[in-house]
Amino acid sequence: MESKAKTAPQESPREKFIIAARRKNILAKKCSRCGHLMLVTVYCCEKCSSREYETLELEGKGRVVTYTIQAVAPEGFEDAGSYAWVVFNVDGTDLRASGFLPGVISPSSLPIGSSVRVIDYHPTHGLLLQKV
Ligand SMILES: [Zn+2]
Repeated sequence: MESKAKTAPQESPREKFIIAARRKNILAKKCSRCGHLMLVTVYCCEKCSSREYETLELEGKGRVVTYTIQAVAPEGFEDAGSYAWVVFNVDGTDLRASGFLPGVISPSSLPIGSSVRVIDYHPTHGLLLQKV
């Protein structure tokens, strides 16, 4: 008799990351060996290559480290107008993440160190941020 193992569909790390982002959070993992904190989508520890980790859901708030303003939206971003690709440091950690902040026209509107928060996950653009 043939039996097929039927397993529940597993969410990929990326899907879990998206679900957390929709809750305005950032899903991270902390290496069990060296304590390094990274995004959940990173496969193995960037520092020691360990694959053992615990998952942490962090509040999706941080401060702008660097960014690039795109005044002309590339293909697929036409809905966005001008926006900034922002690298931010997640509050209370040394974890960096990047996201997409619409409505940024000039550097004066987004000083380095500005607070941003995750508000959603955009299927094309990734983390959607809002200035706070
Ligand atoms: Zn490690």
